Amino acid sequence: MVEAVIQPAHQVGNVAGLSQETWADAVAARTGPATKIGPFESVHVFWLAGMSCDGCSIAVLGATSPTVESLMTGSLPAVPIVYLHHTAIQLEAGDAYMEPMRRAAAGTLGAPYVVVYEGSIADETLADRTGGYWSAIGEEAAADGSLRQVPSAEWLSRLAPGAAAVIAIGTCATWGGIPAAFGNVTGSMGVMDLLGADYRSALGVPVVNIPGCAPVGDNFTETVAAVLLFLQGVAPLPEFDELGRPAWQFGETVHRNCPRAGFYEEGTFAEQYGDHQCLVELGCWGPVVNCNIASRGAINHVGGCMNAGGVCIGCTMPGFPDRFAPFYKKPPGSTFSATGAKLTGLFIRPLRRVSERDRKRTALWDQRGETPSPWGAAHENTFIDRLVHIGYDWIRHSGTSAKDR
Ligand code: SF4
Ligand code: SF4
Repeated sequence: MVEAVIQPAHQVGNVAGLSQETWADAVAARTGPATKIGPFESVHVFWLAGMSCDGCSIAVLGATSPTVESLMTGSLPAVPIVYLHHTAIQLEAGDAYMEPMRRAAAGTLGAPYVVVYEGSIADETLADRTGGYWSAIGEEAAADGSLRQVPSAEWLSRLAPGAAAVIAIGTCATWGGIPAAFGNVTGSMGVMDLLGADYRSALGVPVVNIPGCAPVGDNFTETVAAVLLFLQGVAPLPEFDELGRPAWQFGETVHRNCPRAGFYEEGTFAEQYGDHQCLVELGCWGPVVNCNIASRGAINHVGGCMNAGGVCIGCTMPGFPDRFAPFYKKPPGSTFSATGAKLTGLFIRPLRRVSERDRKRTALWDQRGETPSPWGAAHENTFIDRLVHIGYDWIRHSGTSAKDR
């Protein structure tokens, strides 16, 4: 946990050993004279794209709690209006699109800004050897007078020092992701790899990481809103874990909130896709993966891997994809845990079914010795059932007085 490093807004100056005024001056020197530590009326968000499939953009544009629209219209209480500069939704193009980013990099924007980075950061020196580039935004004059494309990573390096916060979205931007998988011919890496462990934003915040391939859109918009409330000075910085992930989103394994976890516990497992039991024997890594999609859903609390019948392949984790490959093959460790669950389940399942059948009966049905359901043959307690439940109920009521029963 990093609470010791990150302090609530009113203590930010102390992090750097500066008074609040001195810290505000330092921020203003980096981001323009109009900047002060909250409350802000508006915040610019520069969305940079590296080696990306745009899946993160799609996920975020579908977010519902809160929506991107509510952030952009300032309709969330105390949250400043967000001016989102994003190539996919911006009406402006060319110089009109680039101008705010250029001013931010030059320290003349006159307003605070947040940088969001989507996609891996490839080693541009590799592409430069042949006069090319991996991913770029805009162009500008080179030293020899020709026009050069400006790599996204270069924009990140220019903007990061003056940013109120830098947020890496998606597994490519957080940990390197698929472009940084074994082989990694592009030299790809995540934002933290480029900026380094010592990086702090102008307001003292390390890189915030929202992983996922694609990430849950709500995880991103919720974190942005929370960070903006911190920047406004009206809320403490939310808790982040040792990898800069929102702790409340990535503190549990996906298995713990999986709708199929009960099947695992009873030792029943799917044999093929479409079965409704636990998917671990089809290759699910959920028990060791930090992710909240099973409880939060993919969009608007709907969908998500196991909810939709898919296994977890660990896409939120720094070890993705290599340490989870080959996909759709049973994780070796699950042989032990699944076998243990199967053995336990051999005893637990029948006992639970006995209790379940008994609790599907009313006292009146017991008195009459029949169930008046026209829907099918309901279970009638046998003599053995009744004996079992006399003992079971005796234990259930032991230690309680008659009036509490
Ligand atoms: S499907 Fe995966 S996450 Fe769900 S209970 Fe099974 S192992 Fe756990
Ligand atoms: S459940 Fe697994 S594969 Fe699905 S989003 Fe979460 S980490 Fe990725």
